[in-house]
Amino acid sequence: MESITKAPENTPVWVDVSRCKACDICVDVCPAGVLGMVPSDQTILGATISVQTPDSCIGCNDCELHCPDFAIYVATRKEYKFAKLTSDAKERAEKIRANNYMALSA
Ligand code: SF4
Ligand code: SF4
Repeated sequence: MESITKAPENTPVWVDVSRCKACDICVDVCPAGVLGMVPSDQTILGATISVQTPDSCIGCNDCELHCPDFAIYVATRKEYKFAKLTSDAKERAEKIRANNYMALSA
C-alpha cells in the first residue's frame, strides 16, 4: 500500500479514496476542473473524490498541497507531461464549483 505515493505510469493525478473525507477542498482549488466529487456508499458523507478529466491536469500541485488527509497525489514534471491551462478547463472548474463540487455528468 505504501506504493500509492509513487506515480502510476502515465498518470498525472491519482487518489487514495480510502483516505478521502469528501471535504471538497481539492475540487475548489483545482484551476482546471480536473476533479469532482461522485456519490459513494462507502463514505459517511456519501461522496468521494474522483479524477474526472486527467488530461486537463496542469500539474500545479494545489490539490495535493491542500488536501488535509494526504489522499491525492500529483506526478512530478519528470513523470508526466502536463497540459496547459485552457479557457475550457477554467470554465469547467467554475461549473463544477457551481455544481456544489460534484462532478459534471458526461
Ligand atoms: S495538480 Fe493542479 S490541475 Fe492537476 S488536479 Fe491537482 S489542482 Fe488540478
Ligand atoms: S482535499 Fe483530500 S480529503 Fe478533501 S475531497 Fe480532496 S482528496 Fe478528499
